[in-house]
Order: sequence, then structure tokens, then C-alpha cells
Amino acid sequence: MSDRQMPPAHPFDFDAIDGDKLHEECGVFGCIGVTDAANFVALGLHALQHRGQEAGGIVSYAPDHGFNSARRFGYVRDNFTKQSLMETLPGALAIGHVRYSTAGSKGAAIRDVQPFFGEFSMGGAAIAHNGNITNAEALRRELIERGSIFQSSSDSECIIHLMARSLQRDIPSRMEDALRRVEGAFSVVAMTRTKLIGVRDALGVRPLVLGKLGDGWCLSSETCALDIIGAEFVREIEPGEMVVITEQGVESTKPFRAKRSRFCIFEHVYFSRPDSIIGGQSVYETRRQIGVELAREAAVDADLVCPVPDSGTPAAIGYAHESGIPYGMGIIRNQYMGRTFIEPTEQIRNMGVRLKLNVNRALIRGKRVVLVDDSVVRGTTSRKIKEMILDAGAAEVHFRIASPPTAWPCFYGVDTPQREKLLAATMSEEEMRDHLGVDSLKFISLDGLYRAAGEDGGRNNAHPQYCDACFSGEYPVEPADMIEKGFKLKAAE
Ligand code: SF4
Repeated sequence: MSDRQMPPAHPFDFDAIDGDKLHEECGVFGCIGVTDAANFVALGLHALQHRGQEAGGIVSYAPDHGFNSARRFGYVRDNFTKQSLMETLPGALAIGHVRYSTAGSKGAAIRDVQPFFGEFSMGGAAIAHNGNITNAEALRRELIERGSIFQSSSDSECIIHLMARSLQRDIPSRMEDALRRVEGAFSVVAMTRTKLIGVRDALGVRPLVLGKLGDGWCLSSETCALDIIGAEFVREIEPGEMVVITEQGVESTKPFRAKRSRFCIFEHVYFSRPDSIIGGQSVYETRRQIGVELAREAAVDADLVCPVPDSGTPAAIGYAHESGIPYGMGIIRNQYMGRTFIEPTEQIRNMGVRLKLNVNRALIRGKRVVLVDDSVVRGTTSRKIKEMILDAGAAEVHFRIASPPTAWPCFYGVDTPQREKLLAATMSEEEMRDHLGVDSLKFISLDGLYRAAGEDGGRNNAHPQYCDACFSGEYPVEPADMIEKGFKLKAAE
């Protein structure tokens, strides 16, 4: 595999213009027992593109052609739709991965793009990982001291090296061995010559679901990707579960010590697509319910409720419904402004958010506007949007945020700025309101968010309790590498 393909030198990332969001770092998809599995994987990855836009990769296996791999920078639709490329990925078994470029890995080489592949004495295996290994640096140091030669800067590569050192006789058992050494969050999709394997960490932080497609099977980060290929949603892979799928069927084991599940609550707020189902519940409906809770907790006299599109839309619908204030599309998003690798002039750069979002002046003028957004991270985009709304003649601007203040970084597979850069880490709600220059600012409470996610008793009575560390600072797995680098847990502050 070549690492000669590099990202363009000075990409202008229109998706990052309003980069004031947390970003999922990966999506995974795999298929077994279907003709031309790589085509289905490409369609699945296309549906998961919101989980990572920097690069994607697919590995396939066919008895006559062995393992084949293609890894590319850019959108799935720009690479994995070309017949000339898809013809190089034959077989009834394939897995794939989309990734988001994390803050620390801008300028990554193609060798960092998954799936990763390893050749073992019992045959090859490829793996695709969604999540983050919180002890990856310690593992990497240990593995390098013992002779491993790393090809990438990715934490996920540790899994391949740990598998290589295992003494087990088959690949699923080697994977179990490897993952027992790994701390943090992982949903892994892997393949051998005859098996599709799915594993979720014991806390089940990141999602993974099982689907049925004709006589074959699929694994996916989200159910929306099953819908797009016409697969039937069977069930979620349980926290701590490993499934080994062959053409004979699905074998399930629970190789990891059982723990209380801590699924990422931010998947409900923002990461997952609204047409996905999580824990038997529609993501759209949870987001709409967040808006209902927010209206109950933070009512305001106003004339119009507007979403910050697209992610604030369901919560704005819920807020408007509960408050009785009319709903309107006060901000219009240009749906065609994707990631574009051009070198912009300074003038284009300064346009920033306006390239992606425009205000519907005729609707906004003279009104007291409630703007509903999913989160405030650095606050940079919120300030720009407020200016646009006031420029359009709004009488008042009230921000209502569909998540609690994001005051802590995520170490479980989500790209977050350092803690000092998070507005809520350094300012009170009142200070944030002043900083953003809005008439009022309110966030949903953590209890309100739990209630919207179906936990009637709020956070303390919740079952399951979610991971909510980016709001609460209570990390279900200590981020060992970050603590070593000086990160202070809440208790140590
Ligand atoms: S810290 Fe936040 S974003 Fe990260 S897994 Fe937990 S809830 Fe999700």
C-alpha cells in the first residue's frame, strides 16, 4: 500500500468554516454474503459520511483475488463511485471506514486512513475502528520497544500489533486478546477471509448495529446506512459483545468484563443522523423532545423560533410546538457547500459562515427571534450568526441550546478543542451571554437531556446512564494518555 497520496496542500474546508462543533471521528460499515460487497459498503459509508469527511477506505476479499484495498482522501461519492476503482474490490466480504481529520492530525498521510490490514500466520485480517484508545501512547511505546514497526500515527494500529503478538490460534481470539489490553471506546468492524467480526467495548460508548441483507449480513455505525442499502435492522451489538459472522450465521460472545453501559449521549444530540434509531428510539424524536424540554426549562417571550440548520432543526420544532411560538426557517443553508479543496482569497475566507448560511430577511425583520442550536463549543459561529440575524433587522436574539454547556473535552473518538478553548470551561452562562452579545442564552439541563432521551427520572435515576463527560467532567474511563500529558480530571482541579 502506498502512502504517496497526500491531502491537497492548502485545502479550504468549507465544512470547517463553522467548525464550532464537536466532530465524530469515524464511521464503520461491513458486509458478508452479498455479491459485490464493496459496492454496498460504499453506499453504507456514503450514508455515514457525516461521521467523517476527510478520507475513506474499503478492504474486500474474494477467494480468486485475495485481499484488496483502496483508501482515498475526500468524500465517498467522489472516489468509491468510480467503476474502475470498484472493480478492484471484488468479493462477497468487505469492510470500510470514513474518518474525520482530528485537530492533531491535519496533514495526515494516506497510511493513516483505515481499514488497516495485517498478515498473520493463519491468514490476513483487516480492521476499521470507531472510537479512541485512551492508553494508545503507552501501548505504542511498549509495542515499539518489543519490536513492532508502526506504519501510521493512528491509535487504531495498536490493535493490529497486539493481535500479531497474541498466541491464540485464530483471528477472533487474537482480536479478543488485543482488545482486552485496550482502554477507551471502540466499535470495531473487522474481516478475515471468511468472517465478518463486530466488537463493542464494555461500556458501549460508540454505536454499532447488525443488519440483514438478503442471505447476507451487515454491521454499521448507524441504522440509516442499513436503510440506504435496503437491509433490515436486526439489533444493536451489545456493550462488551463480539459477533463473528460467517455465511452460516452469527455467533455471539461476551469476552469482556460486564460493565454498566455508558453510551455517548451526544450521539442523540448531534452526531447520529436524525433518521437513525438508537436504543429503540428515533434520533429525530429525541431531538424534538430536547426542544420540548428546553421550552419548559427556558421559556421566553418571542415572535419566532428558528433553527440553526440543519442540526438545530428538530429541537427548534419541539421548542416551537411546546412554547406555541411560530416556527420559521430564518436561516437557510446552502446544501451544496461541501468540502472544497481550493485555495481561497482572503476575501472569501472572511465571508466565513455567510458562504454556508444566509438569513431569510423578510421573515426575521422586526421580530424577537429564538435561535435553537445543538451546542456551543468555542462560540465563534454563534457570534457570527447573531450578527447576521441582527443585521437582517431582528428586534431581539435569544439563544436556546439543545445540550448542556460543553465544558470538557471528549477523549472517546470525538474531535474537541483543548479545554481552555471551550467557552463553557472558562465562562459562566451569564458571561457567555455577554460574550455572544445576545439578549438571553439558555442551555438544556443535563436532567432535561436525559428526560428527552427517555430517562424520566433524569440523570441520577437513569438506566442506562450515558457517557456525558463533555458536560459533567465525569469520565467513565480515565484518559490515561492525556493525564500523563498534564490533563487534570475534575476531582484534581
Ligand atoms: S465525552 Fe461527550 S462526546 Fe465524548 S463520548 Fe462522552 S458524551 Fe460523547
